[in-house]
Amino acid sequence: MTSTTTDFLASQRRELLARRESYLADVARSTATALELTEDGANQDMADEDGFGEGDTLNVERDRLLVVASEAKERVAEIDAALGRVEAGTYGRCEACGKPIPHARLEVVPEATLCVSCKTGASLRRK
Ligand SMILES: [Zn+2]
Repeated sequence: MTSTTTDFLASQRRELLARRESYLADVARSTATALELTEDGANQDMADEDGFGEGDTLNVERDRLLVVASEAKERVAEIDAALGRVEAGTYGRCEACGKPIPHARLEVVPEATLCVSCKTGASLRRK
């Protein structure tokens, strides 16, 4: 059993690191594209005599990209926290009820901090 757990943790750790890389790439890409749009938008405002139009569309797209970037940053923070729990030996335990989170769930959501019933309860309470 111990080696199964160790193997599971090792593969979760690999998965977390892979996801971390991909979210960091999302942050970099979205931020870079948003900056490009900012520059283009500034030029557009100077050149465009009519005012409205494409500049606004660019602003919306830029804001969307910045939201994507900040959400990706949050995911990276969650993943870092999960990696910390792997190191600390507390990985895979529900933060609310303390029960083990099923491996099947952790394989889908490796950074999960709550079991399904606590997660469902939490989102219901929020409404
Ligand atoms: Zn729970």
